[in-house]
Amino acid sequence: MSTSSETVETVAAPAATSREDVHGTRLTFRAAVLGRPDAPVLHDVDLDVAPGEILTVVGPSGCGKSTLLRTLAGLLSPLAGAVEQDGSPLTGPSADRALVFQEDALLPWRTLRGNVELPLAIGGVPRAERRSRAESWLGRVGLSAQAGQLPHRVSGGQRQRAQLARALADSPRAVLMDEPFGALDAQTRSGMQDLLVEVLRGSGATVVFVTHDVDEALFLGDRVALLGAGRVASVRDVPRPRDRGALDDPARAALRRAVLSSLGT
Ligand code: ADP
Ligand code: MG
Repeated sequence: MSTSSETVETVAAPAATSREDVHGTRLTFRAAVLGRPDAPVLHDVDLDVAPGEILTVVGPSGCGKSTLLRTLAGLLSPLAGAVEQDGSPLTGPSADRALVFQEDALLPWRTLRGNVELPLAIGGVPRAERRSRAESWLGRVGLSAQAGQLPHRVSGGQRQRAQLARALADSPRAVLMDEPFGALDAQTRSGMQDLLVEVLRGSGATVVFVTHDVDEALFLGDRVALLGAGRVASVRDVPRPRDRGALDDPARAALRRAVLSSLGT
C-alpha cells in the first residue's frame, strides 16, 4: 500500500521473534473495511501481525482502535476485505485469542484463583490441572498471596494482574489488549508494562495492544500502528533495545513525535 508516501507507510511484518517456545499466530487484514454495517470506521486496512510480535495501536479517541481489536477478537466481522488468522478467515471468538479490557471484567463473586480457572474450566481442563495452571500464573504475576481473595479486596493493579493471568493461563496464541492499564496510576502502570514484557517473553503469543500513551506504545511495541482519518496511517518499527530512558535516541525521538502528532497532541 503506498498511495501517498506521507500518510501510508506500511512496513512488512518481521519474522517471528526469537522468544523460546514461540507459538504465536499470524493476524492479517487485507483491504479490510471495519466497523458496524451502518457505520464503517476504518477503510483500506492492510496489516500483518507476525507470530510472536507485539504490535501497539495508537490514535485519537473514536478513531477505531477498539473496532480493530473487536474485529480481531471475532466480535465484529469485516464489512469488506478479509481478516485472517494464519491464512484462514476469522469466523468468531476463540479461546486462541484472549481479550483484556481496561474495565475490570473479573467476576466479583469468584476469588482471583476462581477467575483465572474459569476459562480453563469452560475449556474442559480437568480440575487438578486448572488449579495448578491458575496457581502458576498467579505466581508469575505476583498474586500467590492474594489467590483466595475476592476481586473487591485487592487493588486495581492487582485486579489487572489477575486479568492478565486469566488471559494467559489458557495459552492463547494471541492476546488482544484494549487500553488495559488506562485506569492505573503511573507507577502501577509502568510496573504492569514490565510485568507484561516479562510474562510475554515466555508465552510467545502475538500481542495487539491498544493504548493512548505514547511511551507505553514505544516501550511495549515491536511496531506501532498509527490510526487516524479512518485508516491505518502508518506502521513503524520501534527502535530497540526496549528502553524507557532512551529519549535522546534520534530515531526514537522522531517516532515519539510522529505518535504524539497522530494522537493530536
Ligand atoms: P476508539 O477505540 O479508537 O476510541 P472505537 O473503535 O471505539 O474508537 O469507535 C470508533 C467509532 O465507532 C466511533 O465513532 C464510535 O462512535 C463508533 N462506535 C463505537 N462503538 C459503537 C457501537 N456500539 N455502536 C455504534 N457505533 C459505535
Ligand atoms: Mg477504544
